[in-house]
Amino acid sequence: MEHMLHDPDCRIQKKETGRRDTFCGTSRSRALSGPRHSRPGAFPGPGRQGRHLFAAYHIVRVILGLTFVYASMHKILDPIAFALAVNNYRILPADLVNFTALVLPWIELIAGTLLLLNVWTPGAALAVCGLLVIFTGAVTFSMARGLDIACGCFTASPAKGGMNLLTLCRDCSFLVLSFFLLFMVLREPRAGLSPQKEGSRRCLWAVMLMIFLGVAGWGEARAAADQVFVLCYHSFHGNGRFEYDVSLQDLGSQMDELAGRGFCFVTYADLLEGRVAGTKNVLVVIDDGNQSVYQAYRQVFEPRGIRPVLGIYPNVIGKKSYALTWEQLTELSRAGCGIAGHGYYHLLLSQKFYEEDSRAFIKEIVLSKQTLEDRLGVKVTSFVYPSGAASEAAKKLLRETGYECAFTIRWGRVLVPLGSNPDPYELSRYMVTSGNWPMISGALRKAAAE
Ligand SMILES: [Zn+2]
Repeated sequence: MEHMLHDPDCRIQKKETGRRDTFCGTSRSRALSGPRHSRPGAFPGPGRQGRHLFAAYHIVRVILGLTFVYASMHKILDPIAFALAVNNYRILPADLVNFTALVLPWIELIAGTLLLLNVWTPGAALAVCGLLVIFTGAVTFSMARGLDIACGCFTASPAKGGMNLLTLCRDCSFLVLSFFLLFMVLREPRAGLSPQKEGSRRCLWAVMLMIFLGVAGWGEARAAADQVFVLCYHSFHGNGRFEYDVSLQDLGSQMDELAGRGFCFVTYADLLEGRVAGTKNVLVVIDDGNQSVYQAYRQVFEPRGIRPVLGIYPNVIGKKSYALTWEQLTELSRAGCGIAGHGYYHLLLSQKFYEEDSRAFIKEIVLSKQTLEDRLGVKVTSFVYPSGAASEAAKKLLRETGYECAFTIRWGRVLVPLGSNPDPYELSRYMVTSGNWPMISGALRKAAAE
């Protein structure tokens, strides 16, 4: 190869034409100097085989270029949906999901465009090859673990159908094509390069790098800035008998205070689907299904357009006088309140409990979801830990059962999209008690301003 690029015939040709002929190491030089140049490492000359390889190289280049540009578009336009698709693979740590979802589509777009333009093909082919190795590996890994998730390759929607053997075959075919492309450009590094001056080439690199870093940085900063504060309530009797009880009057003034300070009330669906902007958002979650929740909804939440999430443990619903009935719960759910799992018997989901009685532990997580979904006809994808206590066993089982997130009672913000949180199965909440509102209000204002 080296020899060929310094071929004296080539220099002669460069002198004649005044520019570098990209294929001077092949057809022209061979035509001039005969079969002594025929050796591995070069396009095989003007013969039929050479022409076929040349045509195959360009066909593969255009196919992969178009595929990658097309695949990048929906991900760039909807990075939140793509972040969720990436998160579903459960391969990357949570804090890398957002970054990957923002950066990867741009690498696809740039590599695909370069292939289509036939510019810098060695780098583009290497990038395409590397991405396809990663994609094929991720699909294989997920199928081996039996994950029923969408691949996210051509549609960012995590709700679109799961991957199957065809997905794997498709990725493998693209992988073979990319290896062929890489093989061709490595054998003749200048085969695909359009003639470029060194200066303008550097400029183009710099501009592309700036666009890439700018967009990635903007997206990352924007994603990090979107946040929600989740409040946790329990009951609304106002009789002063329970520490976690808040009167309807206090509840109303707390909601009005937040609204007056510019906070927006969001729903669980907003949080899950990333329809949240800015730093001043609040989601209300009410644990346990106390019967006072019905009145609180009608008197306080509904008139203010607030749709809280109800964390329910089914064992008491319709059975205990202090709990909501299934009819009330159905009505609240239909009115737009979110429904979250809260165990079946409200047992503390500690590691010790799992080790001592794993069947009962599993029932708490699996049966609560099934019962709520069957009785209310809704999909339950969030969980609130009884007494706020998370454990590794609980987090693992929640993930496997199809819950997408879970809430503790540790104070802090929840980032949107959920995948950008350190752990979507340990999301923060502020638990409101009868006397701690001034502290919570102050903490929210301070955190929102940061
Ligand atoms: Zn509870």
